[in-house]
Formats: sequence, C-alpha cells, structure tokens
Amino acid sequence: MKKSKLKKLFENMCCSVCKHDFDESAITIKREEEGLLVLQIVCPECGKSFGLALLGTGEDSIKEDNALEFQECPLPINYDDVLDAHNFIDKLEKDWTKYIPDEYKN
Ligand SMILES: [Zn+2]
Repeated sequence: MKKSKLKKLFENMCCSVCKHDFDESAITIKREEEGLLVLQIVCPECGKSFGLALLGTGEDSIKEDNALEFQECPLPINYDDVLDAHNFIDKLEKDWTKYIPDEYKN
C-alpha cells in the first residue's frame, strides 16, 4: 500500500493533542496483510503516537471520497465513553462472535 494513498484517509484528521495535521511522513505501516492494515501515526509536531488497525482494506478501497471524516477534532475519550464501552461489553452474550463478519473468522 502506498503511503500517498493512505494519506488520503487522514486528510480530515489532526492530532488530538496539538491539532497539527498529519502528513505522509507521519504514517508508518506496521503490518500489511490481505484485508488488514496496522498503522502507526506519529504527530510531526508533538510526537504523540497513535495506533490504527484498518480491516477490509485493499488498494481499491481507499479513494478520495472515503477519507475518514473527523471535520472537528474529536474530544478525547472521557469517563462516560469508558462506561459505555464497559456496559456494551458487559451485555455481550457468549455468542458475541456472531457480530464478527465470517471473513474475519478463522
Ligand atoms: Zn500533535
């Protein structure tokens, strides 16, 4: 995967710490497999490191019109978000894997 292509995904995003934009050099591909891409993004301004895993990625799936859209920088995760996630996970039943598409199961 070319970084210039990946960059399109991050055009609308910025560092949650210092609001600096990400450029091509901020992106490091840590792992690339069929349908899986693990990226590290390091803010060129403050050095904050972000990890990102993309599922279902292929050369063709990244286009100008499906850039990740965060027009405003999202707020950092707060206590309520953690509680929501906890409650969600808590309510999952034993067969929670049914929510995972078959193509991602081994
Ligand atoms: Zn930053």
